[in-house]
Amino acid sequence: MSLSSRSTSRFVGPIVVVGLVIAMAVLWLLARPSGQATGSFVGQLLGAETILLLSIGLVLISTLPWIETWFDGIDHAAIWHRRVAIVGMLLLIPHILMSNGGGGPSWASPAGVVATVGLAALVVWSILPRWRSVIPAAGHRFILAIHDLPPIRLLSRLVDEYEVWRAVHRTTGLFVAIGFAHGLADGTPFAGAPVLRWTYVAVGGTGLCFYVYRELLARRGHGLRDYQVREVNTVGEGLTEIVLGPLGRPLVYSPGQFAVLHLESKQGWQRHPFTLTSSPDEADVRVTVKALGNYTSRISDLVQPGMPAVLSGPHGRFTHAKGTSHQVWVAGGVGVTPFLSWMRSLDEHPPPGRVDLFYSVTDEAPYAAELRSIAETHPEVTVHVLRTSVDGRLTAERLLESVGADRSELSVFMCGPGPMLQQLQSGLRDAGIPPWRIYREYFDWR
Ligand SMILES: Cc1cc2nc3c(=O)[nH]c(=O)nc-3n(C[C@H](O)[C@H](O)[C@H](O)COP(=O)(O)OP(=O)(O)OC[C@H]3O[C@@H](n4cnc5c(N)ncnc54)[C@H](O)[C@@H]3O)c2cc1C
Repeated sequence: MSLSSRSTSRFVGPIVVVGLVIAMAVLWLLARPSGQATGSFVGQLLGAETILLLSIGLVLISTLPWIETWFDGIDHAAIWHRRVAIVGMLLLIPHILMSNGGGGPSWASPAGVVATVGLAALVVWSILPRWRSVIPAAGHRFILAIHDLPPIRLLSRLVDEYEVWRAVHRTTGLFVAIGFAHGLADGTPFAGAPVLRWTYVAVGGTGLCFYVYRELLARRGHGLRDYQVREVNTVGEGLTEIVLGPLGRPLVYSPGQFAVLHLESKQGWQRHPFTLTSSPDEADVRVTVKALGNYTSRISDLVQPGMPAVLSGPHGRFTHAKGTSHQVWVAGGVGVTPFLSWMRSLDEHPPPGRVDLFYSVTDEAPYAAELRSIAETHPEVTVHVLRTSVDGRLTAERLLESVGADRSELSVFMCGPGPMLQQLQSGLRDAGIPPWRIYREYFDWR
């Protein structure tokens, strides 16, 4: 199946998630056993919904290819992973207030407390990296004021280390398992309605199976390909291009997809997702890495030609094949990477029609010359390079003015810094571009 045909199924995942939540509520109401107070019954239903939502959350981070298909990419599945977890945790509050369990074995209630405290702590942990977007602006000064206290500084250092953050976050499945066991032992409606017990077991069991798969099997994983670093080139300020040559069977991918690149360093193997900027028809694979954090800032010193590398994937559903016959591609900074692959593979993978590529950079535009030279032999593509330090920001109005096309015909693909894309996205929607014709690639999963 091609990436384009898969993209039409991108609404299936969200619809299934909402459908499952509604179906569970309907089933519980239909199969409600007699003799249980309404408040307590609703409380237990909400507990079951929490297990359902957290189980869906575990399914969504399994990185299995069909999950991507239903959510239009791992990045979108990660957004739904966060959404279901947040709603599940919110439902836990009325569950605790309304449920009147206590009919199970003596360990059931303490297990419920352990699960709740553990999950609540992990929710705080998982939102710490994005606390600025969660806490209202008025609270920022308080957080910044306490930021220099030794325990907060330590916490902040730990959260900043992505691997540490992820290792802690991954224990969530253990607390879901404890919560699941608590519900199974303490769920009073189960005695009078076996169908509720067995659906609960199926739902929680499925989530936990996916968790075990993710933790024990997925990492040993399918789709690992051996490569060797051939070249490490500085292509701009803080931008390093790494060229990898295959050592065996090469990775098969589509333009715009990404892979997890495993590279050896003094601290052991490091795994980071990077978009493949090469054309799939080239023998070598190329990635361009921006110096952003702990590892990427040192990558040009750490990685040398001749070093082994492993690619796992490919992942992602960012493809122009799902767009209309007039497309706008918006690249902000290092967000140019998927478009590099699209441009480098125009001969083999042509877009459905006309394209306007906007490449927005602060000052230096390392790939401008190459993009323009490709466009010279592809008249259907027009490249617009914007240096924001000189030309000002790219806004929806400026973009639509230079494209000058019927808005209802346009589809927009974008990749770049979050604030820039958010602003553009809402401007484009206000200007009448339907939201389902705006496709965005996220470079951040947490
Ligand atoms: C689908 C996708 C495609 C990407 N493509 C590119 C690209 O083509 N070029 C490019 O320069 N960057 C790309 N990135 C971003 C790149 O993965 C991060 O900048 C890099 O992992 C940061 O690592 P660090 O140790 O330097 O930074 P850190 O300071 O450790 O982390 C900075 C942020 O990067 C993310 N991150 C860090 N490590 C990982 C990891 N192992 N797995 C997932 N996320 C992580 C976290 O959100 C973290 O908050 C992409 C990210 C994603 C999700």
